[in-house]
Amino acid sequence: MFARLKSRRLRGASRTPLNALEGVLNSEFGLIARYFTRPAPPGFLGVGDDCALLPVAAGHHLATSTDLLIEGRHFFADVDPAALGHKSLAVNLSDLAAMGAQPLACLLSLSIPKIDDNWLQRFADGFHALAQASACPLVGGDTVKSLSGIVISVTVMGQVKPQLALRRSAARVGDDIWITGTLGAADIALRLLQNRLPVNPSLLAATRHALERPLPPWHFAQQLPGIAHAALDISDGLMQDLGHILKASDCGAELVYNALPVAAALHGLDDELVQDAVLSGGDVYQLCFTAPTDVRASIEALAQGASIQVTRVGSIVAQPGLRIKGPGSTFIVTKQAGFDHFS
Ligand code: ADP
Ligand code: MG
Repeated sequence: MFARLKSRRLRGASRTPLNALEGVLNSEFGLIARYFTRPAPPGFLGVGDDCALLPVAAGHHLATSTDLLIEGRHFFADVDPAALGHKSLAVNLSDLAAMGAQPLACLLSLSIPKIDDNWLQRFADGFHALAQASACPLVGGDTVKSLSGIVISVTVMGQVKPQLALRRSAARVGDDIWITGTLGAADIALRLLQNRLPVNPSLLAATRHALERPLPPWHFAQQLPGIAHAALDISDGLMQDLGHILKASDCGAELVYNALPVAAALHGLDDELVQDAVLSGGDVYQLCFTAPTDVRASIEALAQGASIQVTRVGSIVAQPGLRIKGPGSTFIVTKQAGFDHFS
């Protein structure tokens, strides 16, 4: 039987003994109070009421996005809970960054099979540390018991001037294509953890951080509206994700393979493996964005100010499709490899 939404705390369950009912009440509310309640910023109403209340600046729209993380599908059961707390929020912050939105607040819905205080403390610490760093406080959520495994759903809210938001459809022919951070490390770590590559502890040590603690450039991204045109976060692989911009903007792109920012940890690995990880590897949570050529210096300066790496990797062209110039020869990529949950 399914628990009824909103009544799983047994509001109407008259046959449930009171002490059992109180046990359920105590544990759910105690858990929320202990791990997920933090003082809300001035002007906000945070955890504790039926809704959170957030101020949105005049002339801005609310930007909102949600991501679901399922044990065994998006994370390993034995992953460091602090890293998981961090990543649950990070994968959402990258969506705000991809619109050029400023983070406002987030919601956390958590489904856990049991109350494991050590796990919850570490998860909450990882989550709140990133929430604080990105000025995206946790203002509400939902907490329920799961029948098996952990399910985490985070919703972020941000604000952006709607006419300047970095929409996928806004790329223009002649734009430069830029990437923040580096590519490939998270994919190599995932392959190692899934035993799809031979055991290599030093390579895992050098790549694991990228997979477990992605750090999207939320601060830099907030300064892109008005400068950049289109953007998205790279979650399913550069080729596939850039393909979304090209489709939405009705244009094509030329990338220079040797210009791509390959993560340092990948140097010396098999060329084909590196190419696959860089072009099709997911879990990056960095941005791919387009901008006119006359703002190159502004972008470099913003990146320097935010202490992040930006790399110009190609340009938007009128001819549809994605062409990647390899060393010496031009080759056309027809198969847009990348991750698809249902393929
Ligand atoms: P409701 O009955 O409306 O679902 P709850 O009793 O589940 O409300 O939640 C009580 C308060 O705690 C609400 O403000 C809710 O947003 C907040 N809350 C519940 N779970 C979480 C969580 N995991 N993180 C942050 N806030 C939470
Ligand atoms: Mg609830």
